[in-house]
Formats: sequence, C-alpha cells, structure tokens
Amino acid sequence: MFIKNTERDYVLEVSYELDEEDIRYLEANPIEEGDDWYKSKYKFIKDKIRNFLETNQPQFCPFCRTKLEIHGSNYYNHIEHLVSKSNKIKFMFKGNNLVLSCPCCNSKKNQSDTLVDSSTEFYPLNSGGFNIVHPYFDKFSDYIFYDEADGFKAVDGNNKGSNTIGAYSLNRIKLREKLEKDILNKSNTSSTAQDVLNLINTMDKEEQDKLIASIKDKIL
Ligand SMILES: [Zn+2]
Repeated sequence: MFIKNTERDYVLEVSYELDEEDIRYLEANPIEEGDDWYKSKYKFIKDKIRNFLETNQPQFCPFCRTKLEIHGSNYYNHIEHLVSKSNKIKFMFKGNNLVLSCPCCNSKKNQSDTLVDSSTEFYPLNSGGFNIVHPYFDKFSDYIFYDEADGFKAVDGNNKGSNTIGAYSLNRIKLREKLEKDILNKSNTSSTAQDVLNLINTMDKEEQDKLIASIKDKIL
C-alpha cells in the first residue's frame, strides 16, 4: 500500500535549529501571543525555516502522505506546528515542532492538545510525550495504515494513530477521492502493462525481437 512506500514512510532526522541571529532577535522581540507567527517581524526566521524544511524534508506531507509541491510554489505548503502555537507560544520556533505539511492537513488540524502533559514547560524528547504520530519520532506505518474500503485506520486501534487521523481529518472526502483516484490510476497502469504482455505472448519470436529492439531504441 502507498503508505509503506519508503519515500513516504519517513521519520525526520534533522530539525531547524535557531542560529545566533535568530536567538538574539527573539530575545529583543519576544513572542507575546500565538498570532505573532503571522507578523512580518518574524518573517525572516520563518523563511529560513521554510528553506531548511524544503531542503531536508522528504517531499510528502507527513500526515496524508500526498506529494508536497515544493519549490516555486509560492508558499503552497504550510509550516505546521505539531504543538499548536496558541497552546504553547514558547514552542513556536522550536525545530522539532515544525514540519512542512500540505495546506489541507494544516488547516484541518484542530487545536486539540497533542501533548500528553499539557502543562510541560519543556518540549518532550521522545514519542511518549505526544498523543499524535510525531514525524520526528514515529514511523507513520507503525501506527496508521490505509484501507481502500475504510480509508486511514489505526493499526490495532492504537490511540496515537486514531488521534492523528482525527486531528488532521485524514478521512476527509476530498483526500479519500484523491487517493482512490491515485490507486485507480495505478491499477490502470498495471492493467495496461498486462495488456502489453498479453500482446507480446501472441507474437512469434521474430515479431517479439523486433518489438524489443524498437523499445530499446526508444528508451536507451
Ligand atoms: Zn497532508
């Protein structure tokens, strides 16, 4: 199934670390509320984060696993806060808290508390601190699979998987339609390949050799 595709089933290994310039700037311009994220005064830090994620994150949304449109897309993708920026302003620029996601997953995400201990002052250092599948700590396919009939489902009904499916509305109609289309396209492709093979089987040796030679000519 598409989720287990190795390109899509990644765990992020590196996160953006604030550099000295960022740290000095944030000390001089402290964050006051969740909406500060959208203020132009922080834009240059956000641009650095976006650049870093576009370069280092595989080009698939860490939630719905569809392809992200990266360069030249005029900020088509969103920087998602795994712990909501309004719940915890102190994690607003924390590297492990930031991933590039498709705009739908980002805007569908509700403000539900993704932290196991919502009163914590420190960003948890491992998977156990989070109620959702965390792209820096968890392998998606360990928690979630895709069923053609029922959509995204939690492996053995586990909580992290269920919470993630709920928080990002992974079974939203539009996404289901897109994935079904992708899956259908794939099966059409393989039936086309099967048709070609069937056709080859009807040919004699000389015709097969001619066809193979012309295919090689086209491809190589
Ligand atoms: Zn997505």
